[in-house]
Amino acid sequence: MGKQVFFGSLVRSEIDKYKYNKEVYVAAIGNCHGCFYCVNACSESAIEEVKPPVIDYGKCTRCMECIKACPKGVMQLID
Ligand code: SF4
Ligand code: SF4
Repeated sequence: MGKQVFFGSLVRSEIDKYKYNKEVYVAAIGNCHGCFYCVNACSESAIEEVKPPVIDYGKCTRCMECIKACPKGVMQLID
């Protein structure tokens, strides 16, 4: 696991770059509160509803909706 990339600091071009970069992925890092907003935000049903959530990378399309949905900044982009 490499450095954490914080979604809030990324500009649009960087977000698009990460979306298609297979070397980056989303993961729940930190103090998850179990609200599961991330699970509800995922249109691919790629997030298992456990605390902290587990992502099926075979299903994940890197849309980053789960990152936007997480109110605690736990769901993050990792490279
Ligand atoms: S939205 Fe964030 S805090 Fe809520 S379950 Fe998902 S990772 Fe945890
Ligand atoms: S990045 Fe998109 S597809 Fe992947 S787990 Fe998050 S919401 Fe689901």
